[in-house]
Amino acid sequence: MPFGLFNNKLDNMLPGRVLTDREDLVCYGFDASSREGMPLAVVKPAVTEDVSKVNAYAFDNNRPIIPRGAGTGMTGGSVPLKNSIIVSLEGMNRILDIDEKNMIACVEPGVINAHLQEQLEEKRLFYPPDPASMKFCTLGGNVAENAGGPRAVKYGVTRDYVLGLETVLPHGRVLNTGGKNYKDVVGYDLTRLMVGSEGTLGVITKIFLKVMPLPEEITTLLCTFSKLADAARTVSSITSSSIIPRTLEIMDHESIRAIESYKKYGLPEDADGLLLIEVDGSHSAVSIDAEKIADICSSNNGTVSVADDIYSRNHIWEARRSISQALYNIKPTKINEDIVVPRGRVPEMFVELKKISEEYNLTIANFGHAGDGNIHVNIMTDRDDEEEYERAKMAVRDIFESTVKLEGTISGEHGIGLTKKEFIDMELSEVSIKLMKEVKRVFDPKGIMNPGKIFPD
Ligand SMILES: Cc1cc2nc3c(=O)[nH]c(=O)nc-3n(C[C@H](O)[C@H](O)[C@H](O)COP(=O)(O)OP(=O)(O)OC[C@H]3O[C@@H](n4cnc5c(N)ncnc54)[C@H](O)[C@@H]3O)c2cc1C
Repeated sequence: MPFGLFNNKLDNMLPGRVLTDREDLVCYGFDASSREGMPLAVVKPAVTEDVSKVNAYAFDNNRPIIPRGAGTGMTGGSVPLKNSIIVSLEGMNRILDIDEKNMIACVEPGVINAHLQEQLEEKRLFYPPDPASMKFCTLGGNVAENAGGPRAVKYGVTRDYVLGLETVLPHGRVLNTGGKNYKDVVGYDLTRLMVGSEGTLGVITKIFLKVMPLPEEITTLLCTFSKLADAARTVSSITSSSIIPRTLEIMDHESIRAIESYKKYGLPEDADGLLLIEVDGSHSAVSIDAEKIADICSSNNGTVSVADDIYSRNHIWEARRSISQALYNIKPTKINEDIVVPRGRVPEMFVELKKISEEYNLTIANFGHAGDGNIHVNIMTDRDDEEEYERAKMAVRDIFESTVKLEGTISGEHGIGLTKKEFIDMELSEVSIKLMKEVKRVFDPKGIMNPGKIFPD
């Protein structure tokens, strides 16, 4: 069917909800990776039935469907293929229920993470997953990527909070999995299969989330080190102690310098490493844990300061959340990796990263959720400098090889999408990849649901 006719039919089905002008389509052609594409149309459903109609229509006409939240993904997951239809969930953004009795929130996929956090806090409740993009990413995107965040070290990642989902399958039928129960072992766990599936199995249209009571108290510690190795060793000392901090974030010298040149937050620019640590819980437990953590930091040559009011705490977190943008002050192109190693191996991974940066003569800025062993490795380069860009690409393979050698994983929370798909066989066996492709085929026999993502071509 010619494109014009195809778009007309879409528009007839969902009047006023279909964009086809080039200037509109361009806005949906990229995410936070460096990849881009141009869709055939963007559809903005208002209700689940709209998604069903679009999917069924795309299925009958063999058109790729690309689910999209806010487009903050780091691996190109929502970047469109040619001739594809973007299903943008931004308009399905209602919080349907906050059920205080059962400690459950039911939301549409387009709800912004921070919006839910604010609504819950008013009721003294809390939803732990807090990606640094929480002020602009959607919960649908979080579920599709199994997003993490600083608080994962204590509270886990998105998958630990998803109790149930409504998903529209490629042919348009609606699949309901799980629901409001905290325990449920009837049949295979299809809810968990959907979490982290990167929009390759269906479009998520409703989410049931577990919520928690808001912790009574939080204490924030900032610990600076003149040697990054000491900061990395402190991470292992804390994770092997009896305390589980709420966050345990690391920044290296390059990251600290980039933040300060982006905006003056007052971070110590001469420090080689910095840890941002929080503990939460009851008043008495928090003060004991904070003291123990301060002792661990001091015994590893760290200097500790405490952010004891909400203003200074928010100020430090604003600095932390600005890193991604701030790094562009170093160089115009960022190759962002998201590796994880077992927590006790964080110091070894930092040694490997230093070796790689010296061997390839590249600036590599590292920061991240060190308490989970999750390090965001950012190779700063310039795409126009072809020679350096080639070196940067070679360094990526070495970083992944070192990660796998240390029993780690090449993606902790950003997914595979387009940018990492050529590397998945470094970690997954042939048997696993084959089985995953077969699972996809069962859900998506025509291969129209976010094709070209996760699996190598
Ligand atoms: C500055 C910055 C900081 C970040 N920090 C973190 C962090 O700390 N932790 C972390 O985990 N991530 C982080 N990210 C990555 C990103 O924000 C997350 O992956 C987020 O979950 C993506 O949400 P989104 O709404 O933008 O999804 P999109 O980018 O629109 O989509 C991401 C993927 O999900 C799929 N998808 C989206 N909505 C649906 C749906 N309703 N149904 C099915 N599939 C869907 C898309 O097809 C795509 O594959 C960061 C990104 C930025 C730019």
